[in-house]
Amino acid sequence: MNPGTGATDGGRHGEGSAQAFGHLVTGGVDVSHGPILYLEGVTVSFDGFRALDDLSLTLDDGELRCIIGPNGAGKTTMMDVITGRTRPDAGRVFFGQTIDLTRLSESRIAQAGIGRKFQRPTVFETMTVFENMELALKTDKGGWASLRAVLDSAQLGRIESILVLTNLRDAVDRVAGTLSHGQKQWLEIGMLLAQEPRVVLLDEPVAGMTDAETEKTAELCLQLEKQHTVVVVEHDMDFVARIARTVTVLCEGSVLAEGPMDAVRNDPRVIEVYLGR
Ligand code: ADP
Ligand code: MG
Repeated sequence: MNPGTGATDGGRHGEGSAQAFGHLVTGGVDVSHGPILYLEGVTVSFDGFRALDDLSLTLDDGELRCIIGPNGAGKTTMMDVITGRTRPDAGRVFFGQTIDLTRLSESRIAQAGIGRKFQRPTVFETMTVFENMELALKTDKGGWASLRAVLDSAQLGRIESILVLTNLRDAVDRVAGTLSHGQKQWLEIGMLLAQEPRVVLLDEPVAGMTDAETEKTAELCLQLEKQHTVVVVEHDMDFVARIARTVTVLCEGSVLAEGPMDAVRNDPRVIEVYLGR
């Protein structure tokens, strides 16, 4: 892979990490006494309509959690609250024991270690897969000042391993705009991983994917689980069944049911509001 040329300008690698928040229990997030993500009594209203209604949810460090529920249940709004895009009207949102997410900006939350993939892929279409990855890595660790710096071998190795993980190793020199929809989704997940998030939020990652791409994405999620806490919102029940540990069902802005896939799938309330339709 060609890292490109350009003068080294002494980029400040390693800054902007969660360590700025102290509490160095595990990479800056204190999970010693409880969950990695903690939402309690979260309410979000849009013109009086409660998109989230007293939502409480906890996620353990390192778990893979699937979130399902009908359209309008508040799944995306929940991710908006966690990532600081939407401020709750009421409730508590904590990252580990000590980081109050309702007090941090979106960029601070991302720096603290919560990465999010939106429903639509937002890769740089005119750049190659490699250039997209390079940009994601540099803008995370060195700020814009290090953009012209040549990647070191550790960084190249990281890009390589992420591309292998996301099935894009053979597409490294492809212009992103020519990738399939599924490959773009993987590239965006890869760009997210370049930032080494503790928590990865994926909103409908397999929407629009072929069956083969969906299966590869399931494998990817299962791989991610080993190093990250992963939250997957998805409608594709075969996909959810393939990766599910604990499944949370959201409905009308709060948790309707939670548990193993089989229990959730056979819950009459879940069948009534979601699966049975
Ligand atoms: P889901 O992702 O589960 O389909 P959303 O979180 O997108 O649900 O939406 C929950 C509800 O909140 C929907 O009724 C939606 O129309 C409403 N909503 C979401 N965002 C906004 C917004 N910015 N302004 C007004 N209403 C919104
Ligand atoms: Mg949504």
